[in-house]
Amino acid sequence: MTNKYMYFIANWKMYGNINSVNTIKNVIKISKSKKYKKSNIIYCPPYTLINEFVKKTKNSKIKIGAQNCHTENNYGPHTGEISSKMIKNLGCSYVIIGHSENRKNGDNDRIINLKIRSALKEGLKVIFCIGESLKERKNKQTINVLKRQIKKGLNKIKNLNKIILAYEPVWSIGTGMVLKNKDLEDQIFKIKKLVPKKVKILYGGSVNPKNITNLSTINNISGFLIGGASQNSKKFIDIIKKTII
Ligand code: PEP
Repeated sequence: MTNKYMYFIANWKMYGNINSVNTIKNVIKISKSKKYKKSNIIYCPPYTLINEFVKKTKNSKIKIGAQNCHTENNYGPHTGEISSKMIKNLGCSYVIIGHSENRKNGDNDRIINLKIRSALKEGLKVIFCIGESLKERKNKQTINVLKRQIKKGLNKIKNLNKIILAYEPVWSIGTGMVLKNKDLEDQIFKIKKLVPKKVKILYGGSVNPKNITNLSTINNISGFLIGGASQNSKKFIDIIKKTII
């Protein structure tokens, strides 16, 4: 199932330098064309490039997000950290929270819940990542893990319309491995039952121009969180064009 309101979120991870922003000029161009006007293109560059991306995309509909934030929304004595207030102040409208690469670095469900609260307090929309590891999958724990991540991550959160859920199986990120269509569709269906209807569900994990034609036929997916392939504008545009047909 495809629709023109799809989300395409570029997660640049710890890549990019001061010149990288120039590589997105063709993405800006297609974002202005009538066909893609209603799709939601969001760039999440590293903190160091947020300002450049905000300036570069100023006259387009492309939105900018951060890749993480601190649990406290305000300023404070936290060396090396960035708060949601600072992110918002830079011109971001989104923030990724709960990415498996940050969970691996110590972000547990409770911390993730606090980060989501802090982001919402500042009026940011949250791209909330969930996903099972290969071991959990092999042990048939997938649905229990996702249930726990959703329940604890979204504990006491009311404005669920500001949450976009990104299902990213950890074993699929950066590996080229993707669930078979039928299995992914079943998984999305199960996740859908765990969250209110207003929460949009995206898929992330090795999305590329080759597998997107297949992936974009899957029901109930509202878009894609794209890591590696999003750093190459040609590939990113290809993904968008093959989804919005
Ligand atoms: C990600 O980092 O969120 C991601 C999905 O990465 P990749 O597309 O490279 O698997």
